[in-house]
Amino acid sequence: MVNINLTFLGTGTAIPTLKRRHSSIHLSYQGRNSYSLLFDCGEGTQTQLLKARINFMSIDHIFITHWHADHFIGIFGLLVSMGFEKRERELKIFAPKGDKIGPELLKFYKLPFPVKFFDSYKNGVICEEEEFLVEAMPVKHTVETVAYKFQEKDRLKLDKKKIKKFGLTWQECKEIKEKRKIKKDGKTIKLEEVSYKTEGKKIVYAVDTVYLKKMEKFCKDSILIHECTYFSKEDIKHKMHSCLQDVLKFRKVAKKIYLTHIGRQYQSQSELEEKVKRYKNVFVAKDLMKVKI
Ligand SMILES: [Zn+2]
Repeated sequence: MVNINLTFLGTGTAIPTLKRRHSSIHLSYQGRNSYSLLFDCGEGTQTQLLKARINFMSIDHIFITHWHADHFIGIFGLLVSMGFEKRERELKIFAPKGDKIGPELLKFYKLPFPVKFFDSYKNGVICEEEEFLVEAMPVKHTVETVAYKFQEKDRLKLDKKKIKKFGLTWQECKEIKEKRKIKKDGKTIKLEEVSYKTEGKKIVYAVDTVYLKKMEKFCKDSILIHECTYFSKEDIKHKMHSCLQDVLKFRKVAKKIYLTHIGRQYQSQSELEEKVKRYKNVFVAKDLMKVKI
C-alpha cells in the first residue's frame, strides 16, 4: 500500500498575503520506503511546515523551479534549523544551474551536514530513487525555469488467479517478489508470469511559466499543480505568467488540476472556487491544504 500526500505550504505570488505565503509544496510518499520532498522553498516555508505538522528533518530532496526569491529564499532558514537539530544526512537540492549557483549561495554558512546541488535545467530524469523518478522540463519565464514531474515507478502486483494456477504458497509469493523468480518443482517461475503491471502515479508541478502546449505531453495522466497568477485575461499585468483560460487547456490531458501561485489581488477563496466550480477536477489550492493522491 502506497500513500502519497501533498501539502500546499505556500500558494501566493511574489508578495505574500496573510492568507497566501510564498511558493512551496511538500510531497510525502510512504511505500516500501518513506520519502519527504519539497518543491520550491519560499520565505517562511519552515514555519508553514511546522503549522502543517511536517517534520522538516525528514526532507532529503528539494526541487527549486527557478532562482526568484519567492521560490527559494526559505532554504537558508530551513537548512540552518536542520543544522541546529544536528542533521548529518546528506540533503539534495535540484535547481536550474544548481550545481553552480547553489554552492555560491551557501558559502557563508557552515552546515554540519553535506548539501549536494544538481543542475535541473534539462529535459528528462534528474533524480532517481528506488521507488520514484523526478523529471524536469524547461518552461518559459523571465529566467531559466523548470517544471518537475514526480513519477512513482510502475510496479508489479501478484495476480491471485495466476498464483493459484502455479500453486504458490505465501512464503513463495514473498520470495518471488524479492528475487523476481523462484524454482518450484524443478521449473523456474518468473515474477512477470504471476503478476500484472500497475502504472505509477504522476504529479507535475509547474509554476512561473506562460502556457506551453508542449507541456500537454509532460503532464499527461498526471495530477497537475499549475500556476494561475491571473484568473482572467483582463487582469494580466506580467506576461510571463499564466491565467485561468490557459491552464484549463490541460483539462483534456491531466487527471486533476490544482491551481496555485495565485495573485494577491484575489482575496476571496470562495470567489475563485466559484469561477472553477463548473470544471470537474479543477481545484483552487490554499495554504495548508492537504491532498491525498
Ligand atoms: Zn513566483
